[in-house]
Amino acid sequence: MDNTAKRNFILFTLLLVSCSSVLIFSVVKGDKSLAKTDDLVIETQEVITQSERLSFLIEGMLSAQRGYLITGNEEFVEEYENKKAEVSERIASLSELIAENPSQMSRLAELRDYFTEFSKKLEERANVFEPVIEKEILFDVQSLDNLKNNIMRINNMMLKETYEKLHGRFKLLGERKKQYLKTLLFSVGIGTILLLIFNGYLLLVQRSKGHIAASLKEAEERLSIAIDGSDDGIFDWDIKNNVVFFSRQFFDMIGEKFDPAVSSINYLKQRIHEDDLEKAWSYIEQYLDGGLSEYRQSFRMKHESGRWVWVQSRGKALFGADNKATRIVCIHTDITHTVKAQERLKAEKMEAEDANRAKSEFLAHMSHEIRTPLTAINGIVEIFERTKDSFNEKQQSLIGTLKSSTSSLIDLINDILDFSKIESGELELDEHGFSLDEVFENVISMMALKASEKGISFVFDYSALKGQDFYGDVKRIRQILVNLINNAIKFTDDGGVKINAELEDREGNPFLRINVSDTGIGIDPEDFDLVFQRFKQADSSVSRKYGGTGLGLPISKNLANLMGGDIFLSSQPGKGSTFSLLLPVKIEVHSASTEKQDKSALKINDKIRSALSNDNKILVVEDYEGNVVLLSYMFDELDVVYDVARNGADAVDMWKKNHYDVVLMDIQMPVMDGFSATKHIRDFEAANNIERTPIIGMTAHALVGDKDKCIESGMDSYLPKPLVEADLKREILKYVKAKKAA
Ligand code: ADP
Repeated sequence: MDNTAKRNFILFTLLLVSCSSVLIFSVVKGDKSLAKTDDLVIETQEVITQSERLSFLIEGMLSAQRGYLITGNEEFVEEYENKKAEVSERIASLSELIAENPSQMSRLAELRDYFTEFSKKLEERANVFEPVIEKEILFDVQSLDNLKNNIMRINNMMLKETYEKLHGRFKLLGERKKQYLKTLLFSVGIGTILLLIFNGYLLLVQRSKGHIAASLKEAEERLSIAIDGSDDGIFDWDIKNNVVFFSRQFFDMIGEKFDPAVSSINYLKQRIHEDDLEKAWSYIEQYLDGGLSEYRQSFRMKHESGRWVWVQSRGKALFGADNKATRIVCIHTDITHTVKAQERLKAEKMEAEDANRAKSEFLAHMSHEIRTPLTAINGIVEIFERTKDSFNEKQQSLIGTLKSSTSSLIDLINDILDFSKIESGELELDEHGFSLDEVFENVISMMALKASEKGISFVFDYSALKGQDFYGDVKRIRQILVNLINNAIKFTDDGGVKINAELEDREGNPFLRINVSDTGIGIDPEDFDLVFQRFKQADSSVSRKYGGTGLGLPISKNLANLMGGDIFLSSQPGKGSTFSLLLPVKIEVHSASTEKQDKSALKINDKIRSALSNDNKILVVEDYEGNVVLLSYMFDELDVVYDVARNGADAVDMWKKNHYDVVLMDIQMPVMDGFSATKHIRDFEAANNIERTPIIGMTAHALVGDKDKCIESGMDSYLPKPLVEADLKREILKYVKAKKAA
């Protein structure tokens, strides 16, 4: 019984006891008063009986005396004496009965006097029996009658009063009985109601107890169904008494037979894999000591068959006042399948990563293979371009086609490479400060010509950003712009292309916004998402008519995202499109790095020529003949002396024998690759304390890792293939100048 029920029970018992006491008290009290009234009635009745008897005895005395007088028979005398004695007795008893009533007592005293006189008179008569004269007798009779009448009168008076009293007492008795009955009925009624209430209460308590017991039973049944129904094992450890209950499923999980007698925690410990035991046990102890907010861990348990079962153990403990657990209930779930699946997934992921790496390597290799001949083709095309006056018109047109095809091929290779870099997360931004004007001018010079060739207008308004510096990857920003403007020109046959650049505030942050709008074919809103997906074009007829790979926009969007920005599109089919590039304006950190670069190849040629002295020499390490021809042509043009090594080993030998101002080092070569050759040179320099020779790597491996590898192996810089003549010359100039300054 809980505390409330206990308190209620005590309260009801007290109430019941007090009611019963009141009832008993009133019954006893009523009973006593009734008994008293009863006594009084009996007493009154006794007075009446005595008084009535007194009248009868007086008459008896009189008649006995007469009998004697008439017959002279002594028996009458005896009778007389008896009656007289009895009268005295009665009077005495009456005086006792009415002792508390003074008026009756005075009457009785009067009666007693009359009686004394009466009996005296009667006895006198008997003595003078014989000489009696009739007149005297008559007189005596008269006085006797008077006396008798007086006695009778007083007796009657007493009787009357007694009767009245009796009547009064009867009335009182009736009233008392009624009162008593009322009290009795009232008390019994209250008692019954209380009993009913108490009974009802008990019934309620019993019913609610029944409910609780029933729902407890139900809950227990549900729990046991749940435990039986699930495959999870349970152990309930009473830490205080160090007793453990293990459920049937606990045993099932490890293939053991259910044994209710097993109650030691060691049973669990002994089955945990020895490699997991220490960690698992220190974890559970940490939790039981209050050091962890929740208990959840996985470990292996030995199955009866010898295999290992991966178990996820979750639990909840009850903690005592000292924050130490007193009991813990844990659920064990067999997660072997999940762990196996995870392991499989991990292996598959690794396989996929390997495959991806292989793909990247393949791409790098492919790009090397394609870029190497491309470098040669492009270089030769550039040479033809510069000397095109020496060719006839037809040849010049062929050179033009060769040039545009080569640049398309380079663009395609670059796009594929960019995409593979983005996909493998290897694309890194090369951010620094630069002048936006410069980039815009550069783009305008490239694009305006294209637009005019197509006969459409081209407007680039960046007046709002004149003189604005920007921090970011200038090459990539230019790439995005060129791609967007290229598309705009490509898909516009009438009207033109309008670009405007401005700064915009987006939620308190400055952004650069460049809108590229055209009046071209437009894009169906349904295809807005599609055009940003790789290799996807809005319409297959578009690709047939305009060509393209469907890589430009996804690359641009990915690049914009990498820079913390985005590209948005709004378009109406048939009316034109607007692509908006949004880039966050980052804090300007560049200083004098925006130094104008000389774009004129001629100027560079002059600079190199003046920088290199007659005894300067360059070592070209390259196995591909096409590139050797190209580089030879370039150096011949510059009047620069150079040697050619066909592999890394030859390069090291030649470097040891000669003095070179700069080494141009290819990476993939037979016998010894560029990395190893560079390492050899650096080691030799260090061992012999020789001045460091600048080495510029040339690689078709445009992936991020290659750049790092070049620097790691000891190269000073790195140029991607296909080589851009101006870049190569600038790079050479950098080292020659530095050397001269030193
Ligand atoms: P590509 O131009 O090489 O096909 P992009 O990724 O640059 O690849 O463009 C994907 C597609 O988006 C294009 O094929 C074309 O359908 C559509 N598109 C891009 N820019 C425009 C534009 N300015 N006007 C109309 N359609 C465009």
